Order: sequence, then C-alpha cells, then structure tokens
Amino acid sequence: MNAPLIDPFARAITYLRVSVTDRCDFRCVYCMSENMTFLPKKELLTLEELDRMCSTFIGLGVEKLRITGGEPLVRRGIMTFFDSMTRHLESGALKELTLTTNGSQLERFADDLYAAGVRRVNISLDTLDEDKFAAITRWGRLAQVMRGIDAAQRAGLRVKINAVALKGFNEPELPRITEWCAERDMDLTWIEVMPMGDIGNEDRLDQYWSLKDVRATYAENYTVTDLAERSGGPARYVRLEETGQKIGFITPLSHNFCESCNRVRLTCTGELFMCLGQEDNADLRAPLRAHPEDNAPLEQAIRAAISHKPEGHDFDYSRRRLDGQMSRHMSHTGG
Ligand code: SAM
Ligand code: SF4
Repeated sequence: MNAPLIDPFARAITYLRVSVTDRCDFRCVYCMSENMTFLPKKELLTLEELDRMCSTFIGLGVEKLRITGGEPLVRRGIMTFFDSMTRHLESGALKELTLTTNGSQLERFADDLYAAGVRRVNISLDTLDEDKFAAITRWGRLAQVMRGIDAAQRAGLRVKINAVALKGFNEPELPRITEWCAERDMDLTWIEVMPMGDIGNEDRLDQYWSLKDVRATYAENYTVTDLAERSGGPARYVRLEETGQKIGFITPLSHNFCESCNRVRLTCTGELFMCLGQEDNADLRAPLRAHPEDNAPLEQAIRAAISHKPEGHDFDYSRRRLDGQMSRHMSHTGG
C-alpha cells in the first residue's frame, strides 16, 4: 500500500468527512440564512469525482468516511455514490461508512443505506416540540424526521442524535430529549453552537449555552461519570448512572482535542480543509480534473495538503469575543 497520511505533528489521518452538497431542505437558523444562494452545479464534484476522490483517500489509509453536507440525502443520485463505496467496505480498506443527516429523507433511504453497508447514522434534532422544530429549522417538519428515525431503526441502523445546545430554546427539554433517546436506545450528543458564517441577524452569542452548563444541568438530575474515551475528535463523554446512557459533548471551539485530531474535511467543491477552525485549504478539484487518467497529481496534492495540517485552531468564544470567527458556512465545509 501507499505510505499512510501522517501530518507534521505525527497524527495519522484516517478519517475523512465529505460534504456532498451545499444544499438543504431545511434552513436551520444557526446554519443558513432564509435566502441562501447555492453554488452552480459545475462547481460541485460529480458523483464520479466524489468516488475517485474518496477512493484515493482510502488508498492513502483513510478508514472512516462520514458523508455530510448541506443535507447529503438531497443530492440527486447520492445512493449511487453510497453503493460505489460498498466495494471499499467489502475489501476491508474502509472500516466505516457513515453519514450525518437531518433525517428528512431517511424514510426513503434507510434500507438502501443499510444495504450499501452503512451501520450508523447521526441525525440532527434539536427539539421534540413540533412548533419549536418548525421555528429552528424554518422549513422542517418534525413528523417527517420522526418517520425517518423510525425507518432508520427498523432498517437496523444505529442512531445517534446530535442536538445543538441553545440557551432558552432546548434547555428546558434536556430531560425529555435524554429520556426519549434512552427509551429508543439512541446515543445523544450535545453540540455547542459555533460562530460560523454570516447568517443574518441571529445573535448566536445570546443562544450560546456552554456545554459546561449542560453538564451541570445533567448533574442536577443524574449521577454523572466522566468517561476517558475519546474518538480523535472534539467529543467528550459522560455516563448517566441511572440510565446507563452515554452522553457526548462536542465543544468544537475548545482546543483540547487538537493533539489527537485524525480528520480532514472535503467540501462539495473539492477543497480540503485540514482544520475546522482554520481557513487554510487546498484545492483538490484542479488536479483531479486536470488529470482524469492519472491519480499521481491528486495524491501528491493530498500529501502536500496534509503536510500543512496546522497543529490546532484558535478561535475563542468563551470570552464572548468573535476573534477567529469563520466566514464560511458549516453547510459548505460539512458539520
Ligand atoms: N444537514 C445535515 C444535518 O443537519 O445533520 C448535515 C450537515 S449539518 C451542517 C451538520 C451538523 O452541523 C448538524 O448537526 C448541525 O446541527 C450542525 N451545525 C450547523 N450549524 C452549526 C453551528 N453554527 N454551530 C454548531 N453546530 C452547527
Ligand atoms: Fe440543513 Fe443541516 Fe444546516 Fe440544518 S444544520 S440547515 S439541516 S445543513
């Protein structure tokens, strides 16, 4: 095999997150503005290009692929792409193929995803209240997502719920969401809201609910044990002794996971971001398109990019400053 991807800080890059579209059928207030302008189609990697890109990374040692967006399941023909990744699962080169979705299309796709080899999905859901769900997603309908979650579990997919922690919004729902996940045997992870993009006049500092406070709220209701387990990413975990549930906390703004970071992100236009918190990126679409028959220039561009992976990121939200605020949207880089 080719030499694996190792960055300058001796971290092996084994996890690729791929945004397959910037489009979405929701307009979550912390993620998108109501009137988004999306990229022209020619800017996007085609499904064949996505295959070639991912297959190249897998050839270089990437073992885990997470497909995201925008909403990955609204990309036309996306199942063709999932089906094409099955061969890497079957060869053993790829250990896990997974996706992050808003759940709206899962009723239609859950069985096909399972058949393609997907075993776990992350479903984003911030509230169990229909009206609040409509308000936070602007265009989403809770019942449709619920049917998607049912379909995913019926298909045999393990579900993790990702909830963005929003002060004064889903704060009072913490026990209900937690119990609902326990009843359905779904993992739950809280995500701290991030200062991403310029998405209108929503003041995200006012919505900021620190995960330290989320943890404290748990501690008021449960016996909370910190777990040592890490996944190379920003999540930390606790166990609720009363229910046995494992709850995750993703604080993307803290630096404390950078030393074990094993991941890079590919946008739907083929830019590789080495760090979620840095603008530094490499254009992989150009070498891909310039050499349709020869993979060497693409591999070279990937290696060059990895050799520039920064040690860590540096935005600080906790002191209520927005230094280092990112100008790009999560829907572009993929959350
Ligand atoms: N559409 C899919 C979904 O919602 O799961 C995948 C893409 S979405 C950008 C990925 C994750 O990013 C979601 O869990 C979403 O809640 C999260 N997200 C989006 N904007 C965010 C922000 N400003 N701060 C924190 N998380 C955010
Ligand atoms: Fe769409 Fe996901 Fe962004 Fe919501 S968080 S607008 S579902 S991409």
